[in-house]
Amino acid sequence: MFYSRSFIVTMREDPSEAEVISHRFMLRAGMIRKLASGIYSYLPLGLRCIRKVEQIVREEMNRAGALEVMLPGVQPAELWQESRRWDFYGKELLRFKDRHGRDFCLGPTHEEVITDLVRREVRSYRQLPLNLYQIQTKFRDEIRPRFGLMRCREFSMKDAYSFDVDEEGAERSYWNMYETYCRIFTRCGLKFRAVEADTGAIGGSFSHEFMVLADTGEDVIFYCTKCDYSANVEKAETKTIFTYRDERLKEIKVVETPGMKTVEEVADYLGVERERIVKTLIYITDFGPVAALVRGDHEVNEAKLKNFLGANVIYMADRDKIQELTGGPLGYSGPIGIRMKIIADNAIRGMRNFITGANKEYKHLVNVNIPRDFSPDSFGDIRKVQSGDTCPRCDGLLSMMRGIEVGHIFKLGTKYSEAMKAMFIDKDGKEKYMVMGCYGIGIGRTVAAAIEQNHDEDGIIFPIPIAPYHVYILPINVKDSSIMEFSIKLHKNLEEMGIEVLLDDRDERPGVKFKDADLIGIPFRITVGEKIKKDLVELKFRRDGRTETVSSSHIGQRIVEEVKKGINAQN
Ligand code: ATP
Ligand code: MG
Repeated sequence: MFYSRSFIVTMREDPSEAEVISHRFMLRAGMIRKLASGIYSYLPLGLRCIRKVEQIVREEMNRAGALEVMLPGVQPAELWQESRRWDFYGKELLRFKDRHGRDFCLGPTHEEVITDLVRREVRSYRQLPLNLYQIQTKFRDEIRPRFGLMRCREFSMKDAYSFDVDEEGAERSYWNMYETYCRIFTRCGLKFRAVEADTGAIGGSFSHEFMVLADTGEDVIFYCTKCDYSANVEKAETKTIFTYRDERLKEIKVVETPGMKTVEEVADYLGVERERIVKTLIYITDFGPVAALVRGDHEVNEAKLKNFLGANVIYMADRDKIQELTGGPLGYSGPIGIRMKIIADNAIRGMRNFITGANKEYKHLVNVNIPRDFSPDSFGDIRKVQSGDTCPRCDGLLSMMRGIEVGHIFKLGTKYSEAMKAMFIDKDGKEKYMVMGCYGIGIGRTVAAAIEQNHDEDGIIFPIPIAPYHVYILPINVKDSSIMEFSIKLHKNLEEMGIEVLLDDRDERPGVKFKDADLIGIPFRITVGEKIKKDLVELKFRRDGRTETVSSSHIGQRIVEEVKKGINAQN
């Protein structure tokens, strides 16, 4: 490909709209352009990269025995009413009416459509197991689209759905996808980690998120420094250990805390450590109000609390509701005297003479004790873990790192097959529900995550397997015939050997070309300059900036080897 014909439109300046590195570089390298909030056009350079990821995904899904389909983006409301998600999905589901007044939506995901397809076509256990996948455009009307392809409204997803005759089969399908995802992200050349994720009402340990590791990632991952346990922040657990404070119970007292609302303020004001305080947070759930108690230096984990209660809905009470339920203002809630279910975190078990809100403005209670002053309805693991907590599996300590969720696998069980009556006749002649799993990969987010993980201040450093081109040929002076002739011949030879080449044939200053080459991040750059007269060119590795002078008769073969090595290293 000749640069002058490539429609690569780079930008020198950082676009003001871009808050994260990948977004900034994708705009500057001319990979994407914004059409509307969270809606992007893919330019040739960006699309080449997207297609590379798709190709790896497709090859590995096929290898795993999954079959490719293509389902409609526009979906009828009836299916979503059957699964009851028409009412539960919320505003992310973009709904509209057709000319006959019938309700439709743009598909944010395809459980309903695929379940409908399979229930119509599959009758017998002989047709199972089945794993169907597609690479297709999804639409989610995200409340805050941001960071370019990282969180958009219209995006490409690989989604797969498995159907099995029983739990055992479904678990086999699940682990088959787990292995497949590991192969996919390895082949993409990414550093990643599969972490346990929350399964909500379904339970069990059959949900993993695949996280591309990057300091700039939005997601927090906890991992054990001793064993291979890792989980996202929602799911991460810690062993139930609490320090028992062997103190004499002191007399409970009311103290004035004027204007002190936060744990820090109260602790500083009273001259105690944060570990002395118990925070009381009021939640509204489908079972009514609940007070969640955690130690002052801990945070409530809403996903854990929700699972612990078995609730469908949970959210924090607002200022007015807190006043109504506790009789005191926001910031001064406490467990004594309130009439609602009280759930205390395990860490509170051993505490003595602690401090709580008094449910009165500007007042806290000191020397509170369980069970003398109140008793929680139950204790449980309802807090977020922190670095240094004990691993739930061994005696190692947990540590934190950041990542970007690029894939998610989930065992659905019979949630959709029961709601939508997806049944088959089993060997024993009985009608049974199919057991399902679903498996997603964000294609564009994977590209964005790859850039978050692989870049420097000059631009992108593409991993070889997903680079839009393998080699960038940079003739220093396009008016010099020996330079240009060699460059064009090398371009042709390399393309014939299956290498993807970008030849910068622009009549620009070398500095401009070097800058663009670094920005676009093609793994290998061949600079053709005056030295061509001595049959020499310069090979530069984008990743580490290393350069080598290579004989012009060997450079072709050398590049083929380097590219092969770069792609095979991941296989
Ligand atoms: P998130 O928690 O980031 O909102 P999700 O849990 O809603 O994601 P899934 O429904 O599991 O996502 O979708 C599967 C994959 O699709 C995700 O792992 C992610 O890679 C991708 N994805 C989801 N939402 C978006 C989005 N708004 N923009 C780009 N990719 C997305
Ligand atoms: Mg997810």
